[in-house]
Amino acid sequence: MSYQANEKGYYGEFGGAFIPEMLYPNCEELRQNYVRIMQEESFKKEFDSLLKDYVGRPTPLYFAERLSKKYKTKIYLKREDLCHTGAHKVNNTIGQILMAKKLGKNRIIAETGAGQHGVATATVCALMGIECVVYMGEIDIARQAPNVARMKMLGAEVRPALSGSRTLKDATNEAIRDWINNPVDTHYIIGSVVGPHPYPDMVARFQSVISEEIKWQLQEKEGRENPDFVVACVGGGSNAAGAYYHYLDNEEVGIIAVEAAGHGIHSGESAATSALGKIGIIHGSKTLLMQTPDGQITEPYSISAGLDYPGVGPMHANLFASGRGEFISITDDEAMTAGLLLSKLEGIIPAIESSHAFAIFETRKFKENDIVVVNLSGRGDKDLNTYIDYFKLA
Ligand SMILES: *Cc1c(COP(=O)(O)O)cnc(C)c1O
Repeated sequence: MSYQANEKGYYGEFGGAFIPEMLYPNCEELRQNYVRIMQEESFKKEFDSLLKDYVGRPTPLYFAERLSKKYKTKIYLKREDLCHTGAHKVNNTIGQILMAKKLGKNRIIAETGAGQHGVATATVCALMGIECVVYMGEIDIARQAPNVARMKMLGAEVRPALSGSRTLKDATNEAIRDWINNPVDTHYIIGSVVGPHPYPDMVARFQSVISEEIKWQLQEKEGRENPDFVVACVGGGSNAAGAYYHYLDNEEVGIIAVEAAGHGIHSGESAATSALGKIGIIHGSKTLLMQTPDGQITEPYSISAGLDYPGVGPMHANLFASGRGEFISITDDEAMTAGLLLSKLEGIIPAIESSHAFAIFETRKFKENDIVVVNLSGRGDKDLNTYIDYFKLA
């Protein structure tokens, strides 16, 4: 059994492409070409060279000595926080902009909630000199002013979604409408391992550079490629998919996924999809999502914008349903405490998303000789105001 996607984009019973007929040609063009293009020498060369010189890869695999001492196990941090733009997201947007160019597209669209994916997309569009339109809910535009400003500086047009709750799902609807109307010249960059096939698999492959590097870096440091556990936070699931990728089918490596429990799993304000989700269709993919008994998507909540998503990608739904992955939910308070601890013990201020992953060490015990790799998905600069308010730092 494999935990990778099959030909049709299914991970077990999850995945597929549940899309309106009008979107079929767009997805089909991508589906027919993505693997072939990714395997072309010229593509690989350009992708690798941009990851190296533009993103700053390989990112270090750092042995966190003081953290390890505190929790009596061996903890390594994969430093995605050191990527250009401050998180792993750019690995995927670089890959997709190159894919768009190969497919002859000269216009990019994206949707964004908190603005992180919008910024990563606007960044690579500036790099390539390609027109960029980012859809964003009107409410989110008001809440995320710094990221809106960044996108504008980078030359992107930010279009407000004015319907519904004026947040992420409404922005997604607008982006899909745009893509249907512009199938020939436009590529839609999705920011996580979500959406219709082939997006989850394509994004996972672009992010798989993370575990590819972990393998040789751990070999250098520990004389073995495989850690005992890989830990990552899961919003849609892209940083986690990248960190797990080369270990998915090696059951000697434990996979730990950390979700946001917000104010508590059963508080009515959380984003703990594995605990609360049921099978349904979101964003063109069959997966686990939080919904009401009659199938309406529930509004998620987390203190971290990146984990504030009502579903998970189909890879993760399958890791959960099959038992291959161990899923742990972490509350806002636990994550904030862990973020402060990492800052004090290692001199690294993590994104609040990543703080969730570190919080597991308070309750999940590991053996002294276990090697635990934690994917540090992003840096905390963007979250400084949330840390300030929470800890009354100013
Ligand atoms: C966007 C984001 C996430 C969540 O997205 P995934 O697709 O689940 O990785 C996690 N961490 C950071 C720093 C992010 O910016």
